[in-house]
Amino acid sequence: MRVLKRLDEIYAIAQYRAGYSPEEDAAHELAAGWMRDAGLEVSRDAAGNLFGTRGDARVWVGSHLDSVPTGGKFDGALGVVAAIEAASRLPDAPLAVVAFRAEEAGPMGSKKIESLPEAYLELHIEQGPVLANLGEPLGVVTAIAGHARGQKVFEGRADHAGTTPMDARADALVEAAQFILHVRKCAREGTVATVGAIYAEPNATNVVPAQVTVSVDARSADAKLLDALITEIGFDVQWKSDPVPMGDAFASVLPDAPRLVSGAGHDAMFVPNSSMLFVRSLNGGVSHHPDELSSAEDIALAVDALTAALARLAS
Ligand SMILES: [Zn+2]
Repeated sequence: MRVLKRLDEIYAIAQYRAGYSPEEDAAHELAAGWMRDAGLEVSRDAAGNLFGTRGDARVWVGSHLDSVPTGGKFDGALGVVAAIEAASRLPDAPLAVVAFRAEEAGPMGSKKIESLPEAYLELHIEQGPVLANLGEPLGVVTAIAGHARGQKVFEGRADHAGTTPMDARADALVEAAQFILHVRKCAREGTVATVGAIYAEPNATNVVPAQVTVSVDARSADAKLLDALITEIGFDVQWKSDPVPMGDAFASVLPDAPRLVSGAGHDAMFVPNSSMLFVRSLNGGVSHHPDELSSAEDIALAVDALTAALARLAS
């Protein structure tokens, strides 16, 4: 299967292709060659995003080619390679295949696009276990979750771990531990919340912790639920993005496919009139990891669906 062979070629450049690195450049060069083979005219915008255009391209299709240090073969690259495949199957359709720069770093490229499409389609590996648990190869994304990041700081007092009685301590890490359990309880249906980082001071085995800062990451596709979650958890929000509803370009070609929310951010958040399709993640939904996997059969179905949605929009 040509899509899988090309994913292998991109992965062979380097597992880690940081945004704007020589490795990402090499992946863009490879994709540019495949775009020319598909009869597309190659160009780049000021942000370095790669376009393969045919005709009056009001419909865009694509994803990103950068990766994280522990990345797998499918995240991002699948969306670009599948887009080139779909474009090659529709030799008369006006469209643009796009590989955005540095998605994992912001994203940086899709935030800086200079012209706007009439529609944008993105196929992406799910990066989670939902479709595998449903036994379904494909899922239509209804929205990209809103996301709040921040922290909470706990103040205690540094004391000797051997000489200070238990009832005389102000242990900031014990306070933080109770907060972490509180965060987990606050995340109910339709929301997720995570404490992923702990910074303890002085972080010494024989000193009662004096100050602890914990990170909080809270997400929901429902703006009201997200705001309620933030209030209930009670933390300092340092960065927040609203939920982004997705279009129905894939819903119209896959009326019976399950609908799901993307908990992760994608380039599609920053391109107007986006629709997203997820392909099933195997191996428990692991992603940003070399075991990330989608099957050849599922990818074949995904490319068919991408082609069908593109054919409707770009005819
Ligand atoms: Zn991605």
